[in-house]
Amino acid sequence: MRFDILTLFPEMFASVLGASLFKKAVERGVISVRLHDIRDYAEGRHREADDAPFGGGGGMVMKVEPIAKALEALGPKTDGAQVILLTPQGCLFSQEAAFELSRLPRIILLCGHYEGVDERVRQNLVDREISIGDFVLTGGELPALVVLDAVARLVPGFVGNSDSIINDSFAEGLLEGPQYTRPREFEGWEVPEVLLSGHQRRIDEWRKRQSLQRTLERRPDLLDKANLSKEDRRILEDLRLTMKET
Ligand code: SAM
Repeated sequence: MRFDILTLFPEMFASVLGASLFKKAVERGVISVRLHDIRDYAEGRHREADDAPFGGGGGMVMKVEPIAKALEALGPKTDGAQVILLTPQGCLFSQEAAFELSRLPRIILLCGHYEGVDERVRQNLVDREISIGDFVLTGGELPALVVLDAVARLVPGFVGNSDSIINDSFAEGLLEGPQYTRPREFEGWEVPEVLLSGHQRRIDEWRKRQSLQRTLERRPDLLDKANLSKEDRRILEDLRLTMKET
């Protein structure tokens, strides 16, 4: 899958892209990430990509021409490619949206900065607007990295073991249960016995119950949308009764 990132600050991406699974995925050709400096498409001696807002007010607004030119330089959009503007005014990002985007051949992430981009960019050059939460950051670079990370790890081949993705929180609409690793005991804190039993069916049942319990305790709202089996509903009923008793 190909990611193009349009930004005024390409240097902000180097550390993330040069480390961990990203580095490996790029080296193995699972994903390709290309950074484009919007300033390269700005006119004039100072290559100004932003200007004062019409009507006055504080801050600067990113100009439409350099962004239009940068997008044009990327060539015609291939089938299914989407231009995504990162903005606090966009649709709230989710694992479901990440899954949807990971099926596209290419996404183009447009990072705003300062007061944001000229409204005509949003109106004419963008397919989709994404927010990573109800708060305002300085620029779209961190949100672009968030979207890039969440989407890239769903691309087949990005993570070594695809089971870890299937069992992740939100993948099936629930939170994942707790995880443990060596040592078996630390400062008297023990690992649940069942995980050491080697009995896979009992382990799976324990994990499912833990996942349902966590979701019930922390994010009961998720249960309304989750695809629950008859057995899941029975476990939830049992958990609710236990919670009432304690
Ligand atoms: N004036 C804008 C507003 O009130 O909607 C906020 C501009 S913000 C300081 C600058 C840029 O950061 C935005 O154009 C956007 O690209 C990015 N940004 C900030 N918060 C974001 C969020 N929660 N999700 C996605 N992008 C965000």
